[in-house]
Amino acid sequence: MSTLREQMKDKKRIVVKIGSSSLTHRETGDMDYIRMEKLVRELSDIRNQGKEVILVTSGAIAAGKNALNMKDMRVDSQAETLAVKQACSAVGQARLMMTYQRLFAEYNQVAAQILMTKNTIVDDLNRYNAHNTFSELLQMGAIPIVNENDTIATYEIEFGDNDTLSAVVAALVEADLLILLSDIDGLYTDDPRKNPNAEFISQVDELSDELMGMGKESTGSSVGTGGMNTKLIAARIATKSNVDMVIANSRDIGVLHRILDGGQEGTLFVAKRDESFDLPGFLSDLHKK
Ligand code: GLU
Repeated sequence: MSTLREQMKDKKRIVVKIGSSSLTHRETGDMDYIRMEKLVRELSDIRNQGKEVILVTSGAIAAGKNALNMKDMRVDSQAETLAVKQACSAVGQARLMMTYQRLFAEYNQVAAQILMTKNTIVDDLNRYNAHNTFSELLQMGAIPIVNENDTIATYEIEFGDNDTLSAVVAALVEADLLILLSDIDGLYTDDPRKNPNAEFISQVDELSDELMGMGKESTGSSVGTGGMNTKLIAARIATKSNVDMVIANSRDIGVLHRILDGGQEGTLFVAKRDESFDLPGFLSDLHKK
């Protein structure tokens, strides 16, 4: 076990995902600038160590809702909900990037924005182009900042959550490691908020059906869309694409350094390449009922 953790020191291409609940204050829904600043500082330092960094960030819809004073607005139909969400993300994504750009610039880093939908992967030409863009940006030393293109993504073409998106990005760029920063410590045998006997699982070598069944639909937070279920789907995509994945708590952003230093943090899902894994096919089937 320790050797796998030791190997974290050699990871070169790292995708980090942070969710809306980690980027906003629980009480108000407003952006948590201190957390964002710490995140940017950590990522910039990892970049300065000569590693390649990609950030997958949520928070567009949350930031937009706040900017537009829509936090408590009631919406009456599904179409309205969608339109409101898309409008909020159009405002919020720009705000989010403005903040990231400013913070990364302070640390002398060049940040780049990439917005994706499921079509970016399912369509061969789009996937090829996206792959090339990522490669080029990384070669230029930039830090790609990725989100779903929420403004245009509707049910048919959306990933729906950034856990899945981050694993897709990690697979696309052939990353060495994916780190999911969340409001939970990692994987437990049951929901630790409800069951005090739930045990922590520090390493998963095999994603069995039983384990996949442990996924719970909710993180208990009111922002963001990812629960344990989407994290396990992300783990499936990542590990089958030969990418190690760690789920860790974003409470202390310094956890990023400790993971890359080989520390026993969060839950490690060990990569296990599956040659027969067809990512575009997997994604096309993902939301089909
Ligand atoms: N893409 C959404 C946003 O930026 C969030 C999706 C998620 O939380 O998983 O607001």
